[in-house]
Amino acid sequence: MDFLPLYFNLQGKTCVVIGGGEIAFRKAELLVSAGARLIVIAPEICSDLRKLLKEGGNQHQMLEQKFDSDTLKDAVLVVSATGNSSVNAEVASAAKKRSIPVNVVDNAELSSVIFPTIIDRSPIIIAASTGGKSPVLARKIREILEGIIPQGYSKLATFLGERRADLKRRIPDIETRRRVTEAFLDSPGEQQAMIGNDEVATRYLNEEIERDPEEVCAGEVYLVGAGPGDPDLLTLKALQLMQKADLILYDNLVSDAVLARTRRDARREYVGKKGGGEFTPQETINEKLVRLAKAGHRVLRLKGGDPFIFGRGGEEIESLASQGISFTVVPGITAASGCAAYAGIPLTHRDYSQSVRFVTGHPKNGIVDLVWQEFVHKNQTIVFYMGLRGLASICTQMIDHGRDPSTPVAVISKGTTPDQKIVIGDLATISGIIAREAVPAPTLIIVGEIVALHDSLMG
Ligand code: SAH
Repeated sequence: MDFLPLYFNLQGKTCVVIGGGEIAFRKAELLVSAGARLIVIAPEICSDLRKLLKEGGNQHQMLEQKFDSDTLKDAVLVVSATGNSSVNAEVASAAKKRSIPVNVVDNAELSSVIFPTIIDRSPIIIAASTGGKSPVLARKIREILEGIIPQGYSKLATFLGERRADLKRRIPDIETRRRVTEAFLDSPGEQQAMIGNDEVATRYLNEEIERDPEEVCAGEVYLVGAGPGDPDLLTLKALQLMQKADLILYDNLVSDAVLARTRRDARREYVGKKGGGEFTPQETINEKLVRLAKAGHRVLRLKGGDPFIFGRGGEEIESLASQGISFTVVPGITAASGCAAYAGIPLTHRDYSQSVRFVTGHPKNGIVDLVWQEFVHKNQTIVFYMGLRGLASICTQMIDHGRDPSTPVAVISKGTTPDQKIVIGDLATISGIIAREAVPAPTLIIVGEIVALHDSLMG
């Protein structure tokens, strides 16, 4: 870490700003919003800055002169925004001589402190910095954070702050208190506090406080869809629970990039199977989930795509429900949606496809046994999951039952990841093409007239 982020209490403290232009004005504005008393020094001071200082009555000072190091004597922070490198250097050295923190705008080397980009949800202040490496990137980071941190968090933090002492008194045990606060934040009370409806929010908080501590500290399971691979396709709820869980059970379909977004200190356990290799039987996973939740863990069961689409999610929650363990299911973007979008293949289309089916293409004893006559009508899209090994059988059956051999087929390998590969053919040719090409698992097969749009709609 090149810089340690700290939050500086400037209420009533003197800050000296050297410079009188637009940039000095911006910094002065920030300092005033943090309650600082300003001394602004510059031979010329712009009208915005003048106005800002006048609005503060006589607590601020304007010195229309050249920089003089004596003006720093009461300062707790110095900001040099002159645009003149020799003045900036002089200010930096004068401040450093007096051990006063100094910021030289746009010059991290001369600065002992730097301004972060700020997301202000007072009392929540989020600061981000690239250590002066790229202000443009810092702005982008701010945009991202602005988008994900609700405005209402400001009121929510105030609400919680006002009740903190009472909460400590009523629940002395720190772990129970943490769980109670978390439970409140998961309740509709959070939303109520965010919109300033403190009375209703307090009712929700009290409900959590009065709950049996054993119940509060009980474990639970989050059955979360991790999407097809690209971590940007995770839902917000998935991300929230990925941060909350202290224990993670994941499959081989969950990409490393997704796993990297889980809580850092959570314990991770792989329970998937890899291409015919060793695997954890489903019953073992079901039992494990029950056991871990009963031990008080918040278990994240992370599954590729959507847990309810060829994900055996139903079986896992069945055993949880039968044992009275609380659980949450979070849908994910299923492979068909993710792969289709990233391959430029709309799954339905007014002109080419009026319906779509998700089908398992998993062969049993080398044969894919499905009601083929339902798949042969034109203008419907059939998506086969787990179908690569049965591809030849799938194509033969479709043709034998009457689907046009020239119906386009796409095989998408590792869809939505940086290694995504798309192979296009038709029912008559695709299995021959695939026999010659390396297409690593997982692969998805899309059959239908809409596949022909791939060339023109690939972004
Ligand atoms: N629950 C998952 C599906 C699990 S079945 C979902 O909703 O997506 C496993 C099959 O999903 C694989 O055999 C493959 O057909 C498909 N699949 C999952 N992720 C994929 C990806 N990134 N690219 C291509 N196919 C994928």
